Amino acid sequence: MISFYPGPSRIHNDIPKYMMDACGSGILSENHRSEAFVALTKECMGSLKEKLNIPEEYWIFFTTSATECWHILANSFQAIPSFHIFNGAFGEKWFETSQCLKGNAGFLRFEREEEINIFQIPHQRGILCLTHNETSNGTEISEETLSAIRARFPESLIMIDATSSMGGVVLNFAAADVWFASVQKCFGLPAGLGVMICSPAALEKAAQLKNNKEYDSMINLYEKMKLWQTPCTPNVLGIYLLAKIAGGMEEISLTDKKLRSQANDYCSLLTSTNTIQLLVKNEKVRSKTVIAVQSQPEIIRNIKIAAREKGLLLGNGYGELAETSFRIANFPSILPEEIDVLKQFLKFY
Ligand SMILES: *Cc1c(COP(=O)(O)O)cnc(C)c1O
Repeated sequence: MISFYPGPSRIHNDIPKYMMDACGSGILSENHRSEAFVALTKECMGSLKEKLNIPEEYWIFFTTSATECWHILANSFQAIPSFHIFNGAFGEKWFETSQCLKGNAGFLRFEREEEINIFQIPHQRGILCLTHNETSNGTEISEETLSAIRARFPESLIMIDATSSMGGVVLNFAAADVWFASVQKCFGLPAGLGVMICSPAALEKAAQLKNNKEYDSMINLYEKMKLWQTPCTPNVLGIYLLAKIAGGMEEISLTDKKLRSQANDYCSLLTSTNTIQLLVKNEKVRSKTVIAVQSQPEIIRNIKIAAREKGLLLGNGYGELAETSFRIANFPSILPEEIDVLKQFLKFY
């Protein structure tokens, strides 16, 4: 079965080999205060920074998932109001999590086909939360919009959920203070590990607030990462795999170019099909990494069954779009020949 599911997604071809290497290397029996673990963390951070172009002064932390990052951020910035701007299910869940844990979250919902109108964002000095790539509906926030938000709110901490785009497309890390993702999307790894990338400004604020009674806090992560370690026993296998995959990754601008060209090919195909269409019509907001396809519920149901019979696993529609859409992951680990098989299948619809 070839998986086009947008998370957990098709794992990278080298994962089986690296898993065996991890078992053979002894690292899985080392504790997380050992020299071997410290060396692994350094290797992983070095490769991520180099391959993704993360600014030198930013810090990277290991978490268990993107969902845990929502919790860590709420725990770490309790007194600071957060304002969530979203158009889909993941952005909304992050808002709900913040509101539940801190009680001082606000939101602005925008339309799926629209770019964010930055003049609708109220002026404040708190936290702005954005979902770079809304996995549920196949939209993304453009680099221009992110830069415009950064320029208009220089004193806010800008936090970005980039779970289904980090590792696939170029991100301008300097335009925000916190970026996070889980590894089972664009990185093509098994689930159970997240990364959170933080600016000096975010760390300084977290240090001032000292919200570290909750174990799951940025400041606890920071204190331990100064020693290249984690507060709790981490997913060492996941970190090992991430270090190896990141080490072998090509420069992100090349991956970005490849994914854009593949996304364009999907889009031209889906504008010539009769019964299925692109869900997102406005190309300015259309995701490069998650292609959402729309049709009547019956066609969606049938196409998913027919795809399975051909060995192709399509991503179900998400939330309110469950019955009227399916999703195609356009992640780096999916091979060109696999994409060709899917395109051959889709073109008759
Ligand atoms: C998948 C996803 C999440 C949740 O990731 P977990 O690893 O399950 O915590 C959060 N946000 C976005 C945008 C996602 O695509």
